[in-house]
Amino acid sequence: MGTPDKPAAELICTGSELLSGRTVNTHAVTLAGLLAELGIPLVRETTVPDDPAAIRDAIAQALARAPIVITSGGLGPTSDDLTRDVAAELAGAPVAMHEPSRERIRLRYENAGRIFTEIAARHALVVQGAAILENRVGLCPGELLMINGRRLFLLPGPPAEFRAVLEDGVLPLLRACAGTPPLRRILMTCCIGESDILRLLPESEFPGPNVEIAYCAKPGRVEIRLTSDPAHSAALERAAARARETLREWIYAERACELEEAVVEQLRAAGKTLAIAESCTGGLAGHRITNVPGSSAIFLGGVVAYANESKIRDLGVPAAAIEQFGAVSPETARAMAEGVRARFGADIGLGITGIAGPGGGSPEKPVGTVVIAIVSGDLARVREFRFNGPRAIVKEMSATAALDQVRRALAEGAS
Ligand code: ATP
Ligand code: MG
Repeated sequence: MGTPDKPAAELICTGSELLSGRTVNTHAVTLAGLLAELGIPLVRETTVPDDPAAIRDAIAQALARAPIVITSGGLGPTSDDLTRDVAAELAGAPVAMHEPSRERIRLRYENAGRIFTEIAARHALVVQGAAILENRVGLCPGELLMINGRRLFLLPGPPAEFRAVLEDGVLPLLRACAGTPPLRRILMTCCIGESDILRLLPESEFPGPNVEIAYCAKPGRVEIRLTSDPAHSAALERAAARARETLREWIYAERACELEEAVVEQLRAAGKTLAIAESCTGGLAGHRITNVPGSSAIFLGGVVAYANESKIRDLGVPAAAIEQFGAVSPETARAMAEGVRARFGADIGLGITGIAGPGGGSPEKPVGTVVIAIVSGDLARVREFRFNGPRAIVKEMSATAALDQVRRALAEGAS
């Protein structure tokens, strides 16, 4: 797989902790995302334990298939750090001290007031003849070895170091051999499922020849990626225009980002502030908004009003509304939205109330029933949803649907 014209990469993650349920393997996501920018596909990811034979086999097999092989982990000074030794054996070269790295590590220790020992110096051991890729975050440098005309990159395991060496050392080298990167259009949609997208844009006719499509679905949102060779840019633009037209009301951004990022951007552009009253989401909508840097400019605050008494006391929901219509009702949701808007003096108030389950459902209001209200200027809109899935998914979908209501109101130019 992969020819000099069409480079392809394989990743080998080493570490017994990755196979024992102790550590989530995040490297494939990091690497695939960064390589995609260059148009180099990640064609395989292999995870092996800290065992020299397993590491050797994995590297040898990957080198037989792909022109670019990237390993992670096993460069440190401990007895389970074996990748460097195995790579040295495969390259037919000894392991040697890299003096500039040793000096860098010594200085780091000195600056931190730590005692520099020969054990610490072992971070600077490399395969002789390897090109050294500096590690601005940690101690072990990355390395590049050429084996039978194929590139073998050795990268440190800690995620921040893996990413830093990739960005600083590996990508600039690969960019040179990647050729022209493919063209790409990204459409981020929310509150529409993959099957509905396929119904509106049938696979038999969309995206058409010379354009590739990939979907990535997460609860409440679907990312659509259209890719083409630069020679087929017109076909790509045609496909993107059609998707844009067909899915207009569900598209929240044309770059890879979360819904909350788009909503914060929209609120900032409109100069509007937001306050959120949350019941079944327990603060998730506010949490997601505050994940976005700069959200303080638009988010005034929220109330997690879980008990009925809190809805009455902290948001001013009329007790009669809860009694007559229930805690999960359009009347209560709207009163929550109005209450939180008034209390925070915000331009837009959002109210979320629902039954996340697994208990608490009834025939009229089954588990997954969620009511969301938005008030903004004279606009007051209340919508009822039915979400499927376990509690965490219902909460996630509810927060997404609520943020989507803000997006829609702003897109319609709510005053
Ligand atoms: P160190 O100098 O820290 O020992 P190293 O290059 O030897 O670095 P490892 O010892 O293999 O790397 O891994 C260090 C830590 O990095 C591991 O304890 C683990 O928490 C994390 N790590 C390694 N590989 C991965 C991975 N694929 N995904 C997420 N975390 C990882
Ligand atoms: Mg280690």
